[in-house]
Amino acid sequence: MSVIFAPEGRPASIYVHIPFCERLCPYCDFAVAIRKEIPEEDYVQALIKEWEARKYRLSGRELVSVYFGGGTPSILSGAAIPRVLDSFSSVMNGVREVCVEANPTSVTDEKIRAWAAAGVTRVSLGVQTFSERYLRALGRNHDSDGALRAVELLLGSPLDISLDFIVGGPGNDRGEVEDDLRLLEKFGVDHVSAYQMTIEENTAFGKQNKRGELRVPKDDTVAELLDQMRDGLEAMGFEQYEVSNFGRAGVRSVHNQNYWRGGEYLGLGVGAHSLSISVIAERRANSRNLKAYLADPTEAHELETLYDLDHCRERLFLGMRSISGFELGALRRQFPHLDNDYFERVATSLAPFVNRGWLTQDDELYQPTKVGLYFSDSMAEAIFEVE
Ligand code: SF4
Repeated sequence: MSVIFAPEGRPASIYVHIPFCERLCPYCDFAVAIRKEIPEEDYVQALIKEWEARKYRLSGRELVSVYFGGGTPSILSGAAIPRVLDSFSSVMNGVREVCVEANPTSVTDEKIRAWAAAGVTRVSLGVQTFSERYLRALGRNHDSDGALRAVELLLGSPLDISLDFIVGGPGNDRGEVEDDLRLLEKFGVDHVSAYQMTIEENTAFGKQNKRGELRVPKDDTVAELLDQMRDGLEAMGFEQYEVSNFGRAGVRSVHNQNYWRGGEYLGLGVGAHSLSISVIAERRANSRNLKAYLADPTEAHELETLYDLDHCRERLFLGMRSISGFELGALRRQFPHLDNDYFERVATSLAPFVNRGWLTQDDELYQPTKVGLYFSDSMAEAIFEVE
């Protein structure tokens, strides 16, 4: 049974995927296109064409954020992102955040100025680490000096910045995390994302790992490094508000919060995903094939109906990962066709986690504790077994 849900005033986001990168990082599993010559003009035109064909999907929604992710959005010329943003102008009134992902090798003063003038409010910079050794081990195409230069450039701009780190990759150790924390303290940024390294089978790291050639820290060591990063950030005044995200007082990613709270999003570009909720909830995945996308940006996609049970489980899973948690009463109202007893069974299976101190419970509001954020996947697994 599918949901019936009034869209009026519901928050929504736009995600724009820019797939181009200078070279493929050995751990990358994203939809990327490595090109010597980037077909920027064709790609920008395709994005605008897709937007014109699909913007009706946001009708009645309140657009809260626009996010340019990749790939490497900063690889495009300074004019490209403003052109795409300009095509969204009729829906931009209430937007609270416009974020661009950037890499240290391609962020420039000229691009930052063009983005700021076009309404970009925030840059998420893929630093990964400031350690020269660890950057090489990660196969990144920037060095430590490049990362420092890019951070300083952004700190001198009017844009908010968030820095991305990867913890637990090849050879990563306490000394490197300590150095990264020291530089973070010096820079005084307000938002940090610290992701645990995941090794996907189909990547170069995945293949090396299978052959036993990748020197990755053991699980216990990775957990210690993540603890060290979290404790260091908290000592500087950051709050962990999601498994991988830390912000100083009140500083949060608007875009990610909309996603974690189950908000709708319209994904444009190669490999972009969308979630729309009207008479039915529907997920859309655009083709990861650049040629197919450029040939017809409105057609190259797959659709999947999201049935209530799967949709509700997804909401619970996302709620387990964020300190705002989830409210069973709200889910009951959103999914009225789910068996009433289902929510009772969910509440029963949550009780041991409340007893263990992984979740707090206030009536029907459940929120993961700091310890609980570590076990969000285990808690979600238990909930997924509830029929
Ligand atoms: S820069 Fe990011 S998206 Fe591009 S190849 Fe590296 S990890 Fe993948």
